[in-house]
Amino acid sequence: MAELALSGLVRHSACDWPGELVAVLFTQGCPWSCRYCHNPDLIPARAGTLPWAEVRDFLQSRRGLLDGVVISGGEPTLQAALPAALAEIRSMGFRTGLHSAGPYPERLARVLPLLDWVGFDVKAPFADYPRITGVPGSGLRAQESLRLLQESGVAHALRTTVHPRLLGAADLDRIGADLAELGLPMAELQPFRAAGCIDTELCAT
Ligand code: SF4
Repeated sequence: MAELALSGLVRHSACDWPGELVAVLFTQGCPWSCRYCHNPDLIPARAGTLPWAEVRDFLQSRRGLLDGVVISGGEPTLQAALPAALAEIRSMGFRTGLHSAGPYPERLARVLPLLDWVGFDVKAPFADYPRITGVPGSGLRAQESLRLLQESGVAHALRTTVHPRLLGAADLDRIGADLAELGLPMAELQPFRAAGCIDTELCAT
């Protein structure tokens, strides 16, 4: 069976799932190329550097000490092994969380029943997604993923990274309108962080 391509582990975090003390696993590979990505090393879809067996041993040692495990990335829904990994994490007694930007709606739908919480990145007004992600059609995919998330009833938080060169006040209004059409509240805004970003123009602004 394929295993998650993992390239990072944060052993304890109180800020990756509000209100929960979690471990965070970082998957390798993302189909999008956001200019502000602060984990660009995780974008190439290649083998990970962290064996699942090692992660399993670590999680076994934290049973009863952590509330849950968040799978982040990269883009976790790229991974064929995601459903099996979530099921195994749950079987160890942890609550399960996911960070996603929603590029694979069908795959997201498959794992929603295995999730207790989703942190979803809303990049832009749906029509303008390629300006951020560099990928045509990405807005339609994110829109469908958000529709599925909303219908699932799984707890979630929406957030939008704001860089003044990429999103202005009118764009934020349009994001709010797009989300309202899906019955969702406005995303929480988070400022661009230069740490890790390799786009020199964005970092200089
Ligand atoms: S979706 Fe996330 S991981 Fe992928 S390129 Fe954009 S910011 Fe980076």
